[in-house]
Amino acid sequence: MKILLTIEPGDISEDKYLTFGRWAICNDNSTDYGPFPFRMAYTSALLEREIKDIQIFFLDPFLDRLNREQFINSVEAIAPDIIIMQVSPILWQRDKIILHHLKKNIKNIRIILCGNYPSAEPELCLNECPEIDMILTGEYMQSALDTVRNYITRSTDFSHIGGAVYKNSSGIIIRNTRAPLMPVDSLPLPDRIRINPSRYRNFTIHHPTYQMLMSFGCPYNCIYCVERHVMYGNNQYRFRNPVNILDEMVYLQEHFGARQIWFDDDTATADKHALLEFCSLKIKRKVMLPFGIMGDLISFDEEMIRDLSHAGCICYAFGVESADAAVLKSIAKPIDINKIRYGVKLLKKYRIISHATFSFGHPGETPESMQRTFQFARNLGSDNAQFSIATPYPGTPFFKLAQKKGWIVEQDLSKYFGNLNAVVSYPQLKKEQIEKTVLSFNERWSHIAARKRILVAFRYPLRALAKIRHEGIFQTLQLIRKAIVP
Ligand code: SF4
Repeated sequence: MKILLTIEPGDISEDKYLTFGRWAICNDNSTDYGPFPFRMAYTSALLEREIKDIQIFFLDPFLDRLNREQFINSVEAIAPDIIIMQVSPILWQRDKIILHHLKKNIKNIRIILCGNYPSAEPELCLNECPEIDMILTGEYMQSALDTVRNYITRSTDFSHIGGAVYKNSSGIIIRNTRAPLMPVDSLPLPDRIRINPSRYRNFTIHHPTYQMLMSFGCPYNCIYCVERHVMYGNNQYRFRNPVNILDEMVYLQEHFGARQIWFDDDTATADKHALLEFCSLKIKRKVMLPFGIMGDLISFDEEMIRDLSHAGCICYAFGVESADAAVLKSIAKPIDINKIRYGVKLLKKYRIISHATFSFGHPGETPESMQRTFQFARNLGSDNAQFSIATPYPGTPFFKLAQKKGWIVEQDLSKYFGNLNAVVSYPQLKKEQIEKTVLSFNERWSHIAARKRILVAFRYPLRALAKIRHEGIFQTLQLIRKAIVP
């Protein structure tokens, strides 16, 4: 039996390609930034470990920039018995057409959907696309395994598959409750043989940098968060056994020549005790690999930042979203902006490069609060910052609130990517103003960022040399030019 794990193709225009990790990311075709598809990689490894006599394939059209036709051709060439495809709201209208083709052209194919859109709107997906056999909502590694087992044994009883949504023989939609989240240390290491880890880039200083997870989930409840509300459905936080994390780092070092790890968690820093255990074990085992983390500056102290630094942490990204207390309250983001300032000072003190992310256009936002947040970002002293537009994705409390209040002015889900488009309008702040302001922030910041990168290079010359070696002298000269020419 042939099983294909794949992700929808994201060719949204001639020069733009979209992929959905934690958020929608729309890149130009020259950018190789991309989130490693962890759930696909864990599912692949789990299937391989648990089921004999199957052939597993993986196809990520993002990596090869496959357009729809090329994607369909590639799938048809494999001719899988089962396709498990990750789907987002942005590409859903196109995905339906693709699925229709595949069902028509590949004999007896079973179509299983997963990802944030089918998880948020499973009934709608089943009704709009009769070609779907099964939807697996939420974290789907275990449910994918159970479903494949069912198809292999030709069982028609799907009642035990947690989070599965499907039509029974009478055409009635059955929605199973989600199973408890699985213990993360029972998972095998993600499949990095079929899913080539070197092709997914993220926060690279030492090349090659490979992505890993230390933890799954997040204990916080930000109303716009797709992972928290759609994919996990709760705020359970599962930190992996530090021994397993280190074993995986060593594996990546020995088998793939990793020179840096990027922990692309929702937040890697929510369990201080577990994190410190990881740091001390890393030092004890003399695993010298430097790493960066996606964390938060919500629950931290000097001991945590110091130990991270001693263990080899060289960059630290965190979400701020807004510097306005009313906006933070309205999105349930438990941030204290004075603590953010303190955290950035600590990161500097312990020689960790800091990257702050901000988003604009949340409920309660005003033109003044946007300006205040940008000023805050400018004065924060972080080594970099990122500005995007808040987007209410289906299944999140933000989406429900925006629907109820009539704030949504863009019904076309293909426009729901927050590096370009605003899809809500408030009485005090219109969609166009959000877009225009964020565009101007990004333009202003690009010059500040170039200068900051040069300052960072002077502060950390060895890291700068590693980056120049990887990025090349031409890109470095372009950066210097941007920093000098306003
Ligand atoms: S802190 Fe980050 S990961 Fe956690 S709920 Fe908020 S946005 Fe989601």
